[in-house]
Amino acid sequence: MNSLRNIDIKFLKGVGPKRAELLTKEFGIRTFYDLLHHFPNYYIDRSSIYKIRDLNGDMPYVQLRGRFLSFNTIGEGAKMRLVGAFSDGTGVLEIVWFNSVRKIKDAYIVGNEYILFGKPSLFNGRWNMVHPEVDNVDSVSATQGLRGIYPLTEKLRNKGITSRTIFSLIQTAIAGIKTMRETLPEDILGSMKLMPIMEAVRCIHCPTNNDELQNAKFRFKFEELFYLQLNIRRFSRKRTATIAGFRFPHIGYFFNTFYNTQLPFPLTGAQKRVIKEIRADMGSGKQMNRLLQGDVGSGKTLVALMCMLIALDNNVQACLMAPTEILATQHFQTISELASPIGINVKLLTGSTPKKQREVINQQLTDGSLHILIGTHAVIEDNVVFKNLGFVVIDEQHRFGVVQRAKLWQKNHIPPHILVMTATPIPRTLAMTVYGDLDVSVIDEMPPGRKPVQTLLRYEDQRFKVYQAIGQSLRHGRQAYIVYPLIAENEKLDLKCLEEGYENIKETFSNYKVAFVHGKMKPAEKDYQMQLFASGEAQILVATTVIEVGVNVPNATIMVIENAERFGLSQLHQLRGRVGRGGGQSYCILMSKPNISKVTRQRLEIMTSTTDGFIVAEADLKMRGPGDIEGTMQSGIAFDLKIANLAQDGQIVQIAHNYAEKILDADPDLSLPQHRILSDTLSMLYQRKLDLSRIS
Ligand code: ADP
Ligand code: MG
Repeated sequence: MNSLRNIDIKFLKGVGPKRAELLTKEFGIRTFYDLLHHFPNYYIDRSSIYKIRDLNGDMPYVQLRGRFLSFNTIGEGAKMRLVGAFSDGTGVLEIVWFNSVRKIKDAYIVGNEYILFGKPSLFNGRWNMVHPEVDNVDSVSATQGLRGIYPLTEKLRNKGITSRTIFSLIQTAIAGIKTMRETLPEDILGSMKLMPIMEAVRCIHCPTNNDELQNAKFRFKFEELFYLQLNIRRFSRKRTATIAGFRFPHIGYFFNTFYNTQLPFPLTGAQKRVIKEIRADMGSGKQMNRLLQGDVGSGKTLVALMCMLIALDNNVQACLMAPTEILATQHFQTISELASPIGINVKLLTGSTPKKQREVINQQLTDGSLHILIGTHAVIEDNVVFKNLGFVVIDEQHRFGVVQRAKLWQKNHIPPHILVMTATPIPRTLAMTVYGDLDVSVIDEMPPGRKPVQTLLRYEDQRFKVYQAIGQSLRHGRQAYIVYPLIAENEKLDLKCLEEGYENIKETFSNYKVAFVHGKMKPAEKDYQMQLFASGEAQILVATTVIEVGVNVPNATIMVIENAERFGLSQLHQLRGRVGRGGGQSYCILMSKPNISKVTRQRLEIMTSTTDGFIVAEADLKMRGPGDIEGTMQSGIAFDLKIANLAQDGQIVQIAHNYAEKILDADPDLSLPQHRILSDTLSMLYQRKLDLSRIS
């Protein structure tokens, strides 16, 4: 379509086959178009000049003005380097070159004035700068304004390619281009007041001022997010239009009897609203794909159960899938306790279900007498065959991949309705993208009478006091969790800490029984230990994050998280959700080693300042970026956003989403002539990803 997309980068002056190969390998830059869309990471203001005396470690790149006092070559052969002493009258800076030593030595003259541009660092108590850009004072006016700094890789650096090299290549490319084909429709450009493509390309690489830069950036961010939304929404619409789903019009015996005789407490307003939303979906005749978000303890299980009852009232079977055996077992206990008395047949299927029991389950599944199957991944195996599966609940969605979800679809000739539940609160605009084709329901209200968990940050030297607090809770008949990290790259060391911690706790609290559970144990042993704690026989549970999801022991009111600085915020929030489930005041104590960085402390202080999962999630997203949010990676949608940032550009996501919807309302297939540009651009951008967005 666009000729720039067809011109190989090797034909650009200054590139050639070798550099072209390098650019392709390191950044996927193949064509002129790709190069022009290789954007700077950040910009520095080339109009301000720093003094050497004012340098500090936080500065990324700075500009200095001064003279070389001397040059010295040190070492020989391949190890030879050139060290220049540079001064601006306020201090002296060592400038080091490892490459092209002779050339550089001849190029610069001691005593002449230069402008240096580079990243200062402190080495052995002295400031130095490696491979700075050096300009003659008079030539600098040409580079005033904002200057883009391009991302580089080690390989590129080793080949002598600098940010400046990339800048020059891009400038050469821009100079040679007369026009570029616009990639957004006229009416959007007009109504959003976006910069036209050609101007935006110029301004993003070489803005003369901040306004130009912000306008250019906005255009590219919008464009990126708009096409992402257009793609997601297009497929989502296509799917709902073409795939029929079960229609569940009845509310009958199971739901009504449960409601009247079994419901253990009144539903919260949020639970009622969400059940209504799900019920509307199930009555629509379209297959439901709904994400149910609700903070830990908000009562998702009950919602799931009541929706399953609606399904049962319409003569289909239901299935609930959980990510761990512990959690599946707990769901099974809760649900069979509530549902068995009214004649509902509930069974548990996990990896450790004995063969005999498995046979019973298989038999009852195929003859239809089994109403609700609860289990782990075991339930999606091919040999598990339902008579008529109509409703599936997936708890803690992020542990299941798209492919596994797709398998569920094939369990019936009509795909079952799917309700995905997650306690990882995902900011709405992120959900719009990550789960773009799932409808979202939110339980934003806690059951009454909960006291928010008090979270405290404590350091090693306060351990004694922490143990005193635990002792006090235990004396009041409460139970305690002690959680240790067990993180893959450090597994051996972590396991040792965990075991030492366990021994230590047993000694310190010798009057109490201590249970011990971690992910490396055999399932039977794990269950046994969990049961000890759940039944109250053990008062303390020393554990790894295996307890993160779902485990429900309301009498546990204190949790100590060891090495809290090593956990992600969302994970800490999940863990914390294990306490505060009964009526009593609960505590979560984050233990940290003493010398943590400012950023880490700020991170942990978010935990101590709020119990709102959405605030934690937003903060986590901002601090770590969406790539790290659990679930984003496994969601099956590969993002490689070049410029937009899902954490920071939520507002643009929303606008882009609205535009995409408006266009698809008017022209679902993008077949109108004025939308030609859209379908062309989409097929260019997303060819490889189409297959994935079909499922989920
Ligand atoms: P989660 O959303 O984390 O899965 P659960 O479904 O495990 O939460 O519910 C947490 C606790 O709250 C359970 O003990 C449950 O019985 C209780 N609960 C659920 N709904 C209500 C309600 N409407 N009123 C009071 N307690 C409730
Ligand atoms: Mg739960």
